[in-house]
Amino acid sequence: MTELPYPYEAPASQSLFDRAAVVTPGGVNSPVRAFRAVGGTPRFMVSGNGPYLTDADGREYVDLVCSWGPMILGHSQPDVIAAIQDAVSRGTSFGTPGEGEVTLAEEIVARVEPVEQVRLVSSGTEATMSAIRLARGFTRRAKVIKFAGCYHGHVDSLLAAAGSGLATFALPDTPGVTGAQAGDTIVLPYNDLEAVHAAFHAHPGEIACVITEASPGNMGVVPPRPGFNQGLKDACAKNGALFVSDEVMTGFRTSKAGWYGIDGVKPDLMTFGKVMGGGFPAAAFGGRADVMGHLAPAGPVYQAGTLSGNPVATAAGLAQLRLLDDAAYEKIDAVSEQIRTLVTDALSKEGVAHRLQNASSMFSVFFTGREVRDYDDAKAQESFRYTAFFQSMLAQGVYLPPSSFESWFVSTAHDDRAIQRIADALPAAARAAAEAAAA
Ligand code: PLP
Repeated sequence: MTELPYPYEAPASQSLFDRAAVVTPGGVNSPVRAFRAVGGTPRFMVSGNGPYLTDADGREYVDLVCSWGPMILGHSQPDVIAAIQDAVSRGTSFGTPGEGEVTLAEEIVARVEPVEQVRLVSSGTEATMSAIRLARGFTRRAKVIKFAGCYHGHVDSLLAAAGSGLATFALPDTPGVTGAQAGDTIVLPYNDLEAVHAAFHAHPGEIACVITEASPGNMGVVPPRPGFNQGLKDACAKNGALFVSDEVMTGFRTSKAGWYGIDGVKPDLMTFGKVMGGGFPAAAFGGRADVMGHLAPAGPVYQAGTLSGNPVATAAGLAQLRLLDDAAYEKIDAVSEQIRTLVTDALSKEGVAHRLQNASSMFSVFFTGREVRDYDDAKAQESFRYTAFFQSMLAQGVYLPPSSFESWFVSTAHDDRAIQRIADALPAAARAAAEAAAA
């Protein structure tokens, strides 16, 4: 066994986790952070700088989670920090309209052509919840089609067969969601247009919308097959339903205009979060002006938020978006490709069956020999190999998502030194994956 430069123990994190477990369920404020899928002590981070995070024990990690997507410029990017400090110096929340909200909305509308109007909210969950309510209010229909393995936040009606933490913990559903709340949700296999056509056929005039991740990253990265999103759009148009594309993860990450910038399929409504908040709680939903015009106070569909369009969050998001020019996307695409090549080379060298899938710079590794096209394929992987791989990388100072059902994220700050650290860690991690045995 290769000697690992980092001990596995993390006493300061462990002590914080012990304290947290007393006052917070499971010790965390979002389930996947707890490391239950991979075991061991979740690292409590105290600072982030560029591509690195430093934990409470003073150890530095190359960060390949990037706060689950938002930190696309790396941590503590000076221009973003300056914009935040400037905003904070003028106050933190007014509960009135402010110019930052207008400017951020204009930036989103300018970047993403299908978005004619946008409403700011504070989380991706709120964005999808509100988009669904609006779709139902606009169409005056109840049913929603979603896809197994797609995660749209913890919206009651959308938690059926969701990916992300529900995939990580193998939760088929969650107690607390009533039959009435879930009863209007139709869950279909991803990448299966036949199933979509059959559902529209079985429920004529009842389906308000189809919601899909523009390119899913919550069952690992499973891009849409060619024509899938267009097929969804066409089926919706034909049946009087709205096509809702969830770009909370892909938005402003996979290209300047998100996944829409890649496949050009025009949704009726879109949702955003993560990157557009610059590390703060800011998210949005938007789309056709005639649909958005149904929202209060312009129309009858109610939606609101005390902190929506918060001045600090909008300043952070705007500063980050303004730095995301073509060169920035070229850089993260190149970084992603470099890391993907390193990962696949290391695993191939150890003879580990795997599949590296990407959607622009988003990628994940599945421990399976087959292409992963849907949630069932994703669940069929040998996740125990990921556990060993993850632990070895962590021990060597590389922080990966603590679950095999999540995308890896890179930033423009991942430089040669950070990539070298990943390259140095991979051989031992690949060996650990090869030697791993099912529990
Ligand atoms: N939609 C997608 C595609 C996501 O990936 C997520 C979160 O990971 C959400 C919605 C929910 O966003 P939030 O965690 O900000 O509520």
